[in-house]
Amino acid sequence: MPMARKKPRTSRANGKTFRIRYCDPGTVKGDDGTVCRGTTDFERQEIDIERLLPPDIEGETLLHEHLHQLIEPLANVLPDDLEEVICKALGIALFASLRESPELWRYVLSIASPRPRRPRVVKSLLTGGGLG
Ligand SMILES: [Zn+2]
Repeated sequence: MPMARKKPRTSRANGKTFRIRYCDPGTVKGDDGTVCRGTTDFERQEIDIERLLPPDIEGETLLHEHLHQLIEPLANVLPDDLEEVICKALGIALFASLRESPELWRYVLSIASPRPRRPRVVKSLLTGGGLG
């Protein structure tokens, strides 16, 4: 099954939409100034992801930064280093789970997503008669 490869431009969690920016290699830097693959800035509501990462690493990094956004309400009770360990471990685990259990994720996504509406105009054209 062909999968969409359009890069997401936003990440939504806890009622907030963060902008996702894809940045040149070597330009994404953490709080301590070291180069990293991704960062989440809660004040600016922006996630920066290094451009041109291998697909698996990009997927894990997107999930990692999204997890930081998801657990933001716990930021006051979680030590920073523990938050980082959680996001790293779950980002890798979730990416592997998406690969290993796609049927499960598709089903959950189908439950979480609004169903597309059937186009009523098509039905009325088909049943409208007039050609017999
Ligand atoms: Zn992190």
